[in-house]
Amino acid sequence: MKNKILKYSILAAIIILSIVQVGCTKELQMVSDSTYMLGTYLQLSVWTTNKQEGMDTIKSSFERIKEIENKMSTNLDESEIGQINLNAGKTYVEVSEETVDIIERAIHYAELTNGAFDPAIGKLVKLWGIGTENERIPTQDEIQNALQFVDYQKIEFQGDNKVKLSEADMRIDLGGIAKGYAADEVTKIMKNKGIKHAIINLGGNVVTLGKKADGTSWKVGIQDPFEPTGTHMGVIEVYDQTVVTSGNYERYFMADDKRYHHIIDPKTGYPAENGIISATIITNSSTDADGLSTSIYVLGVEKGMQLIESLENVECIIITEDKKVYTSTGLTERFQIIDSSFQIEN
Ligand code: FAD
Ligand code: MG
Repeated sequence: MKNKILKYSILAAIIILSIVQVGCTKELQMVSDSTYMLGTYLQLSVWTTNKQEGMDTIKSSFERIKEIENKMSTNLDESEIGQINLNAGKTYVEVSEETVDIIERAIHYAELTNGAFDPAIGKLVKLWGIGTENERIPTQDEIQNALQFVDYQKIEFQGDNKVKLSEADMRIDLGGIAKGYAADEVTKIMKNKGIKHAIINLGGNVVTLGKKADGTSWKVGIQDPFEPTGTHMGVIEVYDQTVVTSGNYERYFMADDKRYHHIIDPKTGYPAENGIISATIITNSSTDADGLSTSIYVLGVEKGMQLIESLENVECIIITEDKKVYTSTGLTERFQIIDSSFQIEN
């Protein structure tokens, strides 16, 4: 009898709790849409009291991403980056303020990592062609030749918005940072439209806007690098922050049982190989998180972790080939491994 009363009171408590939750959030509904841009799947979900406004916000966000792609894509000759590349070694090209800002932000990470991150990596990216129909292992000679033209110090600026590459064979590639910028810009649009709860997912660059509608933190899954997309090895609790991962498991090809992936070490000209298979950054700016996740991937565990610990309000999770997981000191409480075959190694 006592048990029965207890059972009913628990049930009542749960029901009351859900009524309160429904009461608080009753008019909020989720509006979500996805599309393919920036060479990846993008999904935007907003919680709103006005469905039409939610849909309009998502539409404006996709339009803004298209605008950024049209300015910053390496693959479009008519983009601002395309024009800088086409005029390499010849003339200055006038570009928008935001393109200059992102090139400068990329150079900041190049300086911070002593060139492990390098926005002038374009010639090598093109040579390997990873993720395109031209992907192949280049010859040693080709790699040696391309390496001469990977040097962010040879990106020149004139006035406020003119950019030139000092040698004809140089190419800028912002693939390691511009997706993060697009995510920050979408966040800005959503905030301006009064959205309080949203998840922005640009192919693995995730931004959580606010908390969940019920007032709790979002739980963002960390991809298991050994399993199909959507299988998580851990979960991180976040709100109003971004979670950005660079990994070797989405853009790669196999040759002779070896994996050739898309994050290139500017010192060797080959895909970075130091045991890391994924590096996740958790911080406030998605542009910074994007630049840093690629940087850490190239730097390796020791130097990478040192860099993260030196930066304020930046955390990281590094996974190595042998399923070891390294986390920065500020993360312990918020990160949980859900697959016990992964071992925390701090
Ligand atoms: P990240 O680790 O964030 O970045 C890896 C990418 O950074 C590489 O693909 C390369 O582009 C670059 N990179 C490699 N090594 C270094 C290094 N050492 N330092 C600095 N950068 C490095 N993909 C398509 O297939 N088709 C497209 O048309 C296309 N257009 C794009 C347009 C824009 C504006 C952007 C931002 C991306 C586009 N992409 C496209 C995807 C792009 O080519 C990259 O593959 C993608 O941004 C990689 O993101 P990531 O999060 O997987 O990896
Ligand atoms: Mg990146």
